[in-house]
Amino acid sequence: MSDCIFCKIANKEIPSQVVYEDDLIMAFNDIQPQAPVHVLVVPKKHIKDIASLSDTDYDLMGRIFKIINKIAKEKGIEDGFRIVNNCGEKGGQSVGHLHFHILGGRQMQWPPG
Ligand code: AMP
Repeated sequence: MSDCIFCKIANKEIPSQVVYEDDLIMAFNDIQPQAPVHVLVVPKKHIKDIASLSDTDYDLMGRIFKIINKIAKEKGIEDGFRIVNNCGEKGGQSVGHLHFHILGGRQMQWPPG
């Protein structure tokens, strides 16, 4: 999608602080961190949100969760962290390209807002 900011990050058209990259997945620091560790993990291909996944996307989702664990270990937060996915406007999603937030490095609270 030409006007999608995370597609542009995945294509290196706009800069980001890359934490991880392979042929299908990109992870980069959130520009407005909400915790000492705040990394976004995205599929490089444009998927709007969790509700838009196709049956063929679930292998990719498994791979994303493997990378989430790898990043958590590398960041030293494997003893406790939060994964957030906001789905759709009502779910608080502000960027319409599927992404998972990894938040860690501080005590998390519940319930979320
Ligand atoms: P969400 O509200 O779940 O859609 O999360 C979108 C996230 O993207 C927010 O935490 C933003 O701070 C983050 N964000 C927006 N633009 C950028 C950018 N250019 N680089 C890194 N993170 C961004």
